[in-house]
Amino acid sequence: MKKYDSLVGGEWVCLGDYHENVNPSDVSDVIGLYSYGDAAGIDTAVAAARAAQPGWRNITPQARHDLLDAVGNTLAKRSQEIGRMLSREEGKTLAEGIGETMRASQVFKFFAGECLRQVGDIQPSVRPDIDIEITREPVGVVGLITPWNFPIAIPAWKIAPALAYGNTVVMKPADLTPGCAHVIAEILVECGCPAGVFNLVMGRGSTVGEALVSHPGVDAISFTGSVTTGHHIAEICGRMLKKVQLEMGGKNPMVVMNDADLSIAVPACINGTFFSTGQRCTASSRLIVEAGIHDEFAAAMTKAMGQLKIGDALDASTQIGPVVDAKQLNSNLEYVELARSEAAQVIGGERLELTKKGFYQAPALFLGTDNSMRINREEIFGPCGSIIKAENFDHALAMANDTDFGLTAGICTQNLKMAREFKRSAEVGMVMVNLPTAGVDYHVAFGGRKGSSYGPREQGRYAAEFYSTVKTSYQFAG
Ligand code: NDP
Repeated sequence: MKKYDSLVGGEWVCLGDYHENVNPSDVSDVIGLYSYGDAAGIDTAVAAARAAQPGWRNITPQARHDLLDAVGNTLAKRSQEIGRMLSREEGKTLAEGIGETMRASQVFKFFAGECLRQVGDIQPSVRPDIDIEITREPVGVVGLITPWNFPIAIPAWKIAPALAYGNTVVMKPADLTPGCAHVIAEILVECGCPAGVFNLVMGRGSTVGEALVSHPGVDAISFTGSVTTGHHIAEICGRMLKKVQLEMGGKNPMVVMNDADLSIAVPACINGTFFSTGQRCTASSRLIVEAGIHDEFAAAMTKAMGQLKIGDALDASTQIGPVVDAKQLNSNLEYVELARSEAAQVIGGERLELTKKGFYQAPALFLGTDNSMRINREEIFGPCGSIIKAENFDHALAMANDTDFGLTAGICTQNLKMAREFKRSAEVGMVMVNLPTAGVDYHVAFGGRKGSSYGPREQGRYAAEFYSTVKTSYQFAG
C-alpha cells in the first residue's frame, strides 16, 4: 500500500503514524496510507513558511503568475484521473469529481491573472508637496483549514489567492480527504513552487488544526467547515488578534411560488437538495412552497426523487453517491428519525445495502413540516430536504429569513417584481432566481451572512480583502 507524507520546507516528511484513507462507496477499497502530523509538525511547517515569506513576497508577479498558471494547466490535463481519485475518496459522482477538478484548475488560472492585475491608488495629499500611495501587501503566513466535501475546489480557492497576493501557506486538509490535498501539493512542487512557500500538514483537527490556529507565527486563518469548529477558531483568533475568515454551514431556503415553472423548479430543487449527496453548504434543505402549487410540487418532487439512481460513485450511471462516512450517515439517519418524531411525513431516507459495502442512503423528503422544527433549524448535511407550506410571498420570505444561517437563498417564479423583491430582501450572501441554491461561478464573491460566514468574502477579486493588507505611504516631495 502506497504511503503519503506531509510537505514541509519542500521535503516530503513523515510526521506521524499512517492512517488508511477508505473509499465510502466500497469500504474494502483502501486508497492509501497518509501520515498524520502533530503540533511539532506544525512548528516546523510554520518555520519553513516564515523563512520562505520574504523571497515569495518579493518575487516578480510574473513568477507567481507562471506557477499558478502551470498548476491550473496541470489540473486540467489530469482532470480525469484526479476527478476519479476525488470520487473514490469523497464519494461524489465521477462527473462531479471531474467537474470539481476542472473548477480547481479555473480558480488557479483566474488567480494567475490576478497576479498581474494588482493595483493601488495614488491620491493627492490635503497638504502641499506630499504624495500619497495606497498599496496592498501580503498578510504573511496564512493557515488554511479545509473540509472534506469539496476536497479539491476549496483548497484551490484558498491556496491560489494566498499565493497570488504574496503569502506563504501552511494547509491542514480534512482528515477524511487527504488524497486530493496531497495531489495539489505534488502538482505545486512539480510546477516549481519554491521550498517553504506551500506546506501541507495532514492530521486531525484537534491536534494539527488546533496547533495551526494558535501558532503565533501564523498571521491569518482561513477556515471552511462546521459552525462549532468555526466558533472555536474565531475565539482563538480573537484572543490573538489574528485575521480570520470563516465559511460555515447553511440551512438554505428555496422558495417556489404559485406561478413557478415546475419544469425549472423541480430539477432545480432535486439538484440543490440531493446532488453531491446533500453534502454542500449551499444545499437547499428547506423547500418553501406557496399553498396553491404545494401538492402538485410535492408530488412531482417525490416522483423525481424516486427516479434518482444511488450507487457507487465511480459507476457512470450513478446520480447520488454514498454519504462520506459512517459518522455522517448515522447523523443523517438520526435526523430522519427526528423528522418522524416531529410528526413530519417521511418519504425515503433509509440506509441502503448495495452489492458493495458502503455508506449508502436513499434521499429523503420530509412533508408537512413547519419552519420551527429542529429538522428545519439545524444543518443536516445529507440527502434530506423538507417541504414547508407558505401562505403567500411575504410569508415565504419571512420564513426564508427566519434562520440562524445566511449563505444562499433561491426563488422560482416568473414574476419579475417578486424576484426583484426577493433578491433585495433575502438575508444571505448569494441569491438565485430560477436556479438551484448550489452552483456558483469562480470569478465572483462567495460567502454569506449571519451564522454562515465571518470575515471578508472568498473568491474573485474580493479575495484580496482577506489575503492582503492595505498600506498608506506619505512622501514629502518638496
Ligand atoms: P469540521 O468543522 O469538523 O472540519 C472542518 C475542518 O476543520 C477539518 O479540516 C477539520 O479537521 C478541522 N478541525 C476540526 N476541529 C478543529 C479544531 N479544533 N481546530 C482547527 N481545525 C479543526 O467540518 P467538516 O469537515 O465535517 O464539514 C462539514 C461542515 O462544514 C458542515 O457543517 C458544512 O456546512 C460546513 N461547510 C461549509 C462550507 C461553506 O463554504 N460555508 C463549505 C463546506 C462545508 P478533521 O477533518 O481532522 O476533523
